[in-house]
Parts: sequence; structure tokens; C-alpha cells
Amino acid sequence: MPEKLKIKNIIHNIADMVFPPRCIYCGKICKTGCLSCEECILPRVEGNLCPVCGYPLDRCNCNGRKYNFGRCIAPFYYKDKIRDAIIKLKFNGNKRVAIELAKEMSDIIKCQYDIDMFDGVVCVPMNKKKAKERGYNQSELLAKNICKNLNLTYLPDVLTRNKNSLTQHKLPAQDRWNNARNSYGIGNVEIQNKCLLLIDDICTTGATLDQCAYLLKKLGTSSIFCCVAAINHYKT
Ligand SMILES: [Zn+2]
Ligand SMILES: [Zn+2]
Repeated sequence: MPEKLKIKNIIHNIADMVFPPRCIYCGKICKTGCLSCEECILPRVEGNLCPVCGYPLDRCNCNGRKYNFGRCIAPFYYKDKIRDAIIKLKFNGNKRVAIELAKEMSDIIKCQYDIDMFDGVVCVPMNKKKAKERGYNQSELLAKNICKNLNLTYLPDVLTRNKNSLTQHKLPAQDRWNNARNSYGIGNVEIQNKCLLLIDDICTTGATLDQCAYLLKKLGTSSIFCCVAAINHYKT
């Protein structure tokens, strides 16, 4: 082992002794190199899933709608420990949560999509004022980590968020569709004839993803596929 690597390993081991890694979900000490323990039971999306919205077939969220994206997949439901983790990501910008959720997302992207088809990865934007206040966009943190894991290209600032758009989760379902339609603009990026992977943290009605996909298509993108960290398990 090269000297430099040896020293790095020693430093890591000492750091683990002083600050043992703790599970991002329950806070218990976990194995070196891990961000979560083996005991935490997480609300995984499993079973027979709708090939479009990614919900279980008996709770399909499509409601006869035609989306502008081809498909959406998610590793988790937005509840229990996942809900708590996403709140940590959203309001504290917790990097360890971003890394762990992005790892889970990368795993299902690898399994369920042919990653060679993607020309790049984009994320759902946050309005500039909010991004400035928080100092980060949680969807961007996820997208960048996914790119690192899967060796894909992150395309920054493809979509922009209009100034006065309302926060989606505070609106009733029908208003979300109207709000999403008026909320997004397009940045100055060439994405003609590209196949893109669109990333967000949570999907509830699909309105936000659909509006982003609609704008990307208007720009000439050939196809868009989505992955979110969690889908809301309550039907709205
Ligand atoms: Zn745990
Ligand atoms: Zn569906």
C-alpha cells in the first residue's frame, strides 16, 4: 500500500474511534464506512409497480394523466424514518443524508434504467431567493451525488424557478398543477435531442416533475426519465 494511502487509512480509523459513524436514520453507531445501520426498517417501495408513476399498481397515481416524462421511480415512501431524513436534508442540508439517499437512488436507477441512455442529469430547481437563504438546493445535492456514483454528467441551471411561485406542498392537489405550470422557466443550456434523468426529493402528484419535463421537451429534449428519493404514500 502506498505511504499516502496508509496515512489516510490511519487518519480515518482514528477519526472513526473519536467520532464513530452514526446511522443517519436512528443515530446508533454503525459500521465503518456506512451511513446507516442494519437494524433500521425503511419504508421501501416494493411489489408490482405502475410502469409510469412508480406507485404500486393498486395505488397508481396516474389517474388517466399523460405525463411528459417516460417514467418515475423511487426507492422509498415519504414516511417514518425517510420522512425525518428528508426533513434533515431539506432544512439542514445534511450532506450525509444526501449521500445515503443518493446511494439508494443510484442503486434503483442502475437496476431499472439503462444508464447508458442518459446524456445528462438535471434537477428540479428551487426559487433563487429560497436557494440563497438555504445555501443549497436539496434536489441538486441528490443529483450531484447520483452523478458521482453513476459517472453521469450533471447539467446545472437547465431549469429555473420563477420568483413568486408558491411552495407546492402547501397547495391542494388541483392548485399544484396550475402552480407548477406557472412556476418554471428555462435556463440557457443546449439540451436538444438529449435523453435526461430528472431528479427531485419528493413526488406527490407528479405535477412538478411533469411541468419540468414539459419545459425540457419544449427545449428539444428527446426524452425524460425521473427518479425521486421518496413518493408520498397518501393519495391526494
Ligand atoms: Zn439505524
Ligand atoms: Zn401510475
